[in-house]
Amino acid sequence: MEHENLWAPWRIKYIQGLSRSHDCFICHNRDNPKDDDKNFVLWRTEKSLVVLNRFPYNNGHLLIAPTRHIPDLDKATDEELLEMTRLIIQSQKALSLALKPHGFNVGMNFGRCAGAGLPEHFHIHVVPRWDGDTNFMSVCSDTDVISQSLTELLELLKQISKENNLPGL
Ligand SMILES: [Zn+2]
Repeated sequence: MEHENLWAPWRIKYIQGLSRSHDCFICHNRDNPKDDDKNFVLWRTEKSLVVLNRFPYNNGHLLIAPTRHIPDLDKATDEELLEMTRLIIQSQKALSLALKPHGFNVGMNFGRCAGAGLPEHFHIHVVPRWDGDTNFMSVCSDTDVISQSLTELLELLKQISKENNLPGL
């Protein structure tokens, strides 16, 4: 729970992986519900998926994506936009209960130059923030440590979702 940093050297594995693969992990997750725990899928709703980012900028970094493989907001329907907006609220609620952050960044990147790791399938980032977290840098994070904490975090968020009837759209 103490991996609260915005400096994320492990993302290089993700960025290198992108050049080797055209697979869309959101569509892959959507199509493999039996692997939800392995893929860190927290919620499935009618038109969306909420997953833990495997390459988090901060502990508790969630991604909200439409189930449809679409690159831009202007391709989304009003129903999708409304559902995803409600999921931002519910995600913040779940993360607040689980991790007690002091604030959040919620945002989107369009195009690789803007930092989109998966520009073909848009997604909303929900990143918990804590006072002073930008000052804390870790150089000894490795993938196993992060995977372990993601597994624990997923269990915690699932438990909290159950107790609080989230996402409850
Ligand atoms: Zn996709």
